[in-house]
Amino acid sequence: MLKATKIRIYPTTEQVAFLNRQFGAVRFCYNTGLRIMSHRYKRHGQSLSAKHDIKKLLPVAKKSRQYGWLKEADSMALQQSCINLDQAFQRFFDPHQKTGYPRFKSKRGKQSSYHCVGVNAGDSWIKVPKLGPIKAKVHRKVEGRLKSITLTRTVTGKHYASLLYETEQVAPALLKDVDAAGVVGLDMGLSHLAIDSTGRKIANPRFLKQAQKNLKRKQQALARTKKGSAHRARARLLVAKAHERVANARNDFQHKLSRQIVDDNQAVIVETLKVKNMMKNAKLAKHIGDASWHALTAKLDYKAKEQGKHLVKIDPWFASSKTCHVCQHKMDAMPLSLRSWECPACHTQHDRDINAALNIKHQGIVKLKAEGLSVSAHGGLRKSGMSPAAA
Ligand SMILES: [Zn+2]
Repeated sequence: MLKATKIRIYPTTEQVAFLNRQFGAVRFCYNTGLRIMSHRYKRHGQSLSAKHDIKKLLPVAKKSRQYGWLKEADSMALQQSCINLDQAFQRFFDPHQKTGYPRFKSKRGKQSSYHCVGVNAGDSWIKVPKLGPIKAKVHRKVEGRLKSITLTRTVTGKHYASLLYETEQVAPALLKDVDAAGVVGLDMGLSHLAIDSTGRKIANPRFLKQAQKNLKRKQQALARTKKGSAHRARARLLVAKAHERVANARNDFQHKLSRQIVDDNQAVIVETLKVKNMMKNAKLAKHIGDASWHALTAKLDYKAKEQGKHLVKIDPWFASSKTCHVCQHKMDAMPLSLRSWECPACHTQHDRDINAALNIKHQGIVKLKAEGLSVSAHGGLRKSGMSPAAA
């Protein structure tokens, strides 16, 4: 099993200077590769591959007088920047992802570099090529073989290292039998972060909302400053710090929430692509961005795997809000403003979101069964044998 851990590191002034050059070299390769590829395509209609064509240019550049300084950096990190660029293009060309054309990496944004040869880590230090040990704060040690270290520098100037270990541990086999009562459907809410099929509404915590309010205030202050002024640079740093606080608060909350959901259940069902479709609607985008469904789903996914449990991602079943989970009657329209409704066929009163979560749960059970699992019915699965899919 692979296990990742992220720790704060404290490079010395000289190490910071070296890391800045390292990050700069990685950024240079990425941006130059992107520039060459765009140019070749525009001028000659030729599609280059970052993984092959651009990567091959690295040794040539290092030998040249102009780009000889690239030799100073860890060559694996430079090669990885070509691979990252390749992946950015793959995401762009993937019709399912709908991501934009790769963008240049900014000097002002978050910086990173990847190292996989000559890496090591101890109780209070980490080691990457061409640099002495960097002081680190290790919270819990992972037993296993260190495979890679990714160094990052945040916008506010903090340094982190993400360590990836290959452990002796074997991932537990996936559960073959699941009790329907142990299956939970999660619907991403607009009024809430998520609503589960038991009717629990999970709100974003107050400390996160406060951090978001603080961020908004700082952003407004930044907008009022003059371009290029010292005030602006100061305001930008404050915004970056507020951003960091929001991200940390959210991350923390999502870790606790996903831990609890996975511990309490055998299978978790979520909808996936819906987020992207809703993102097209600018008014909804903010709410959804805040809810950061993707990040939560990723945490649910790896925590479930660690316990041999299931995370089932179902395709956006657009009718999940419009269909009555009791009799499968499908409504023609279901405006977002309608928070509760009565099914005209069976007269069940529905809370919009809970009904959707129940439909997601049923859909997930259908998918689990299709994958060959047995899902026992005690605990609430309808006995009629009629599946939502059949309906
Ligand atoms: Zn009904």
